[in-house]
Amino acid sequence: MKKTLSACICIVSFLLTVQGQSFRAGAAVRVITPSPLLAVSGGIGIPKPATVKQGDLFARALVLEKGNTRIAIVNVDNLGWTSILGDRSRALVKGIPPQNILIGATHTHSAPDAYGFPDEKGKNYADLKYLNWCTIQIADAINEAIRNLEPATLKVAVGEAKGKISYNYYADALYDPRCGIIQALAASGSHAGRPIATLVNYAIHPEVIGSRRGILSPDLCGPLYERIESKAGGVALFMNSAQGGMVTADNRRENGQEANDYAECTRIGQLLADEALRILAGAPEQKDPVLFCTAREIKFPVDSPEMKYILLHSPLKKENAGSDSVSAQLNLLNIGTAQVLTIPGEALPNIGYYVKRHMHTNNPFLFGLTNDAFGYMLTKVDFNSFERYNYVSRTSLGEMTAEIYINEALNLVQQSPAAEGFKK
Ligand SMILES: [Zn+2]
Repeated sequence: MKKTLSACICIVSFLLTVQGQSFRAGAAVRVITPSPLLAVSGGIGIPKPATVKQGDLFARALVLEKGNTRIAIVNVDNLGWTSILGDRSRALVKGIPPQNILIGATHTHSAPDAYGFPDEKGKNYADLKYLNWCTIQIADAINEAIRNLEPATLKVAVGEAKGKISYNYYADALYDPRCGIIQALAASGSHAGRPIATLVNYAIHPEVIGSRRGILSPDLCGPLYERIESKAGGVALFMNSAQGGMVTADNRRENGQEANDYAECTRIGQLLADEALRILAGAPEQKDPVLFCTAREIKFPVDSPEMKYILLHSPLKKENAGSDSVSAQLNLLNIGTAQVLTIPGEALPNIGYYVKRHMHTNNPFLFGLTNDAFGYMLTKVDFNSFERYNYVSRTSLGEMTAEIYINEALNLVQQSPAAEGFKK
């Protein structure tokens, strides 16, 4: 009897250990379309009224867990999502440390102002009630994703997305065509082998529609989610990448014309989704992959008068925050063979190439506009150089922003374990 009991206890504790350490994933979605519709913002200036919507705006959450490590990755359909809003959601989530919650903006130019951009008189037009409601929806999505956690396996791939998807508006070929995909699949139950979530990481400005056409829209991200979910199942997420100066949707037509409608958003979103699933198709299944998350706070001086003005007058600033410097959460994740670094803004593509090249992984992911979005990030060499860069220089924090970011990001890489299977 005694022997049987101790054997039972042994098996139970073994099962608990296995369950406690195995890789689990869960996902959930919330619609954050304002009702009634609100004016939309594509950047600094007064938001433009919207009279119709084409597609819904979403908060999409993926939670991953292994042993004592639990992380959340969230994408929000908005131009940028400041940390003051992100922190409100973090405070409403129990069971994931705030520094393990990554919140990125898709950068659609057709969603309500989440910065509180001031006009010349210092007045802003952000709907704080709507934004606060969004922070609750985001937290709800994360909390539901935690409840949905189930044993999972992983597929990861990075490859070139082919076809007419993005290009560099300043210089056609200067963009990174690589698309990264992280997919969590159910490991047990009746739906074993089916995707729980598929995350697509790619650099592009979702501004096919833009902010001047009276339309509220997730832009090309809406059709991307729909296509991934109808073909693969599960929840689709989109994390932008190093899309600054000026990697944008390739909606060019003949004779200098552009296609600016939802049909073009659909063409590009579906093509990107199809390419992502094609790239992922041959990826091996990773059983019980490693999960690692680390974070640090990085500080940037604010030199740009425009950015100082926004920081001074926006209602969405942290208590006691001045206008001379800002700080942001920088994350590094290892998810099986994938390594992820976050970027708190819009890094130019050359910065993306450089950082990816020095990451300790064969599957590099950069989550742009994540945990904050402080405008463009140019290297000190690019800053205020070509006339073409006037706008992106003015709307960056300053000359040293990218240098500081690169140093901090690569230090974090040095101090962290490599992703699984990394070969130089
Ligand atoms: Zn932008």
